[in-house]
Amino acid sequence: MIELAGMYPDELKEWLMSRGEKPFRAGQIFSWLGRGRTFDEMTNLDLGLRRRLKEECVDAAVEIRTVRESALDGTRKFLFGLRDGNCVEGVLMRYRYGRTLCISTQVGCRMGCRFCASTLEGRVRDMTAAEMLGEVTRVNRLLESDGESVHNIVLMGSGEPLDNYDNTVRFLRLAGNEKGVNIGMRHISLSTCGLADKMLRFALEGLPVTLSVSLHAPNDEIRKKLMPVAHAYPIRRILDACRVYIEKTGRRVIFEYALVDGVNSRPEHAAMLADLLRGMQCHVNVIPLNDVPERDLKGVTEKQVAEFLDVLNEKHISATRRREMGDDIEGACGQLRKKYLDGGVQ
Ligand code: SAH
Repeated sequence: MIELAGMYPDELKEWLMSRGEKPFRAGQIFSWLGRGRTFDEMTNLDLGLRRRLKEECVDAAVEIRTVRESALDGTRKFLFGLRDGNCVEGVLMRYRYGRTLCISTQVGCRMGCRFCASTLEGRVRDMTAAEMLGEVTRVNRLLESDGESVHNIVLMGSGEPLDNYDNTVRFLRLAGNEKGVNIGMRHISLSTCGLADKMLRFALEGLPVTLSVSLHAPNDEIRKKLMPVAHAYPIRRILDACRVYIEKTGRRVIFEYALVDGVNSRPEHAAMLADLLRGMQCHVNVIPLNDVPERDLKGVTEKQVAEFLDVLNEKHISATRRREMGDDIEGACGQLRKKYLDGGVQ
């Protein structure tokens, strides 16, 4: 079955023409798919074409399997079902500046970060562009009845987006298309564990999304303890790639830094981090680690977070504490899917 939502308009046009259909149908179908409509709902297509599409193609690559809403802050957590029976997570957060949807890019992940629940069972498979778009269009449909929609997207769910490079880039171009989902690149953040070669390639795509880099350590020695990927890509190469990204896109880079008790969270680590980032157009998101019970790593106290931030700010590094949301609904990083796989979610 062909996932039509993953086709660029030109490809859709060619595909339709190869089947003897009129090229202008491509625009109609593209716009319906961008609004998450099924073939049955595409009322300006003749019945014959609709039937044919249903036989050969997929309109909705994902479905929403469960929704949980936080009583604390209204954050909603989704478990998305894929057509092959796999599932991934997404989180919808409400901020002052609009609704942000966090989506997954792979089923599982093979990066092996010590603190991350998404990687516990490795990578099952890459997600397609249509599946990533499906996460957005499904949630948009849900919000439609309240006159709402997703304003911002962050690629911070399960998976390493740059380890699924082609599908991710295709997703971004499709998401930005004004006739489709229409979310501008400035409203999208891509988070990477620091695949420096792919970061350099991505800098040249002409997609000015916000690049977030999961740094989590002020030197390679500590980073290797937390992130196996640090063996392949030293911090120096990652920062060089960031500088190229900043130069090519004119956008500042965000560094994610989760404080892990006894590993990377002391004031001297903050000082080393400040030295590392001095002069760079960047911002640091300091995150208290979400404990993952399967691992022996723990988060830190609020006092430790404040001290860490103080050191960075004194050294003129822009840094803030990232707010946690949806604490009561397994809002964090792969926790819901994990629970589902373990049989804890109906
Ligand atoms: N693979 C990408 C995106 C997915 S992870 C990346 O590594 O950036 C999204 C973010 O959540 C990353 O910054 C990741 O390091 C962070 N994260 C994962 N597990 C966490 C945990 N237990 N506590 C806090 N942050 C975590």
